Amino acid sequence: MAFRIVAGCTNCWACLPLCPQEAIRAAAPHFQIDAARCTECVGDFADPQCASICPVEGAIVDATGRPLNPPGSLTGLSPERIAAPSTF
Ligand code: SF4
Ligand code: SF4
Repeated sequence: MAFRIVAGCTNCWACLPLCPQEAIRAAAPHFQIDAARCTECVGDFADPQCASICPVEGAIVDATGRPLNPPGSLTGLSPERIAAPSTF
């Protein structure tokens, strides 16, 4: 039961101080979650703190690879709209 940070992470540092388990560490090429420490915040918070603060859609995934902040969840823009050519 642990989440992972993946390639979309921009190393912004926002999540690191919020983790109640000190499971997040700065690393190259992007931050990492120590699977042995991550509890998915169960017992500490109602929502996973890293995903709650993360500004990048898709940067944190669950054990099945599902993004906690999927495309469109933060921007309000659908993946189709983002992929569409600009009309400007
Ligand atoms: S889900 Fe909670 S315990 Fe796991 S890395 Fe994120 S903030 Fe830390
Ligand atoms: S908040 Fe998101 S983008 Fe920022 S360091 Fe954490 S995982 Fe990476």
